[in-house]
Amino acid sequence: MRQTLPQLLNEVRACSLCAAHLPYGPRPVLQAHAAARLRIVGQAPGKKVHETGIPWNDASGRRLRDWLGLSPEQFYDARKVAIMPMGFCYPGRGASGDLPPRPECAPCWHARLNALLPNVELTILVGRHAQKYYLAQRCEATLGETVKAWKLYLPLGFLPLPHPSPRNQPWCVRNPWFEADLVRRLRDIVRSLAL
Ligand code: SF4
Repeated sequence: MRQTLPQLLNEVRACSLCAAHLPYGPRPVLQAHAAARLRIVGQAPGKKVHETGIPWNDASGRRLRDWLGLSPEQFYDARKVAIMPMGFCYPGRGASGDLPPRPECAPCWHARLNALLPNVELTILVGRHAQKYYLAQRCEATLGETVKAWKLYLPLGFLPLPHPSPRNQPWCVRNPWFEADLVRRLRDIVRSLAL
C-alpha cells in the first residue's frame, strides 16, 4: 500500500542518516499536509529553530512572512503552507556562521515528500542552496541575478528569494527593485492562492 504523508513525516522525524555530522543531534523541523498549496524550501534550521522545533521562528521568519504577506496563523497552517528546508536539522556553526544544510537530506527526502504534496501551486526557493537544487542549470550565475530573473521561473511553479536574514539587509538596500517590484508582486501572487 502507498505510504501516506503522515507516515512519511513520521519516518522523516525518526531520521538519523547524518547524525554523526550534527553537533546537536537530529531534530528535523518541517511541516507538510497534502492540502498545502504553497511550499517554502529554505536552507536549514538555525539554533533557535532547533531549540523550539518551530520553523522560521526567528527574525528571518518574521521578514519572510512580511515578504509573503502571510500572518503567523496562515504561515503555520500546514494545510496551507508546506515548509521543508534543504536540510531538516540544524547543522551547527562554522567559522563564518551556520554551516550549509547537510547534503544528504534533500536527496533523501524531498522527492518523496513532493510526491505526496499534489496541490502545491507555487514553491518559494529561499537562498542559493534551494535554487541550485530545484532550478539546477536554470540558475543564473549569482543569487542576485537568479532572483532578478524571477519572472522566468514563475511558469515553472518556482519563485526564488534571497535569504530574509537581517544580515542580508545591505543586499536589499543595494537592490531596491527587490522590495519595490518583486515583494509587491509576491504578495499579490500569494494572495491569489487564497490561503
Ligand atoms: S538533516 Fe536530514 S538526513 Fe540528516 S538526520 Fe536530519 S532529517 Fe536526516
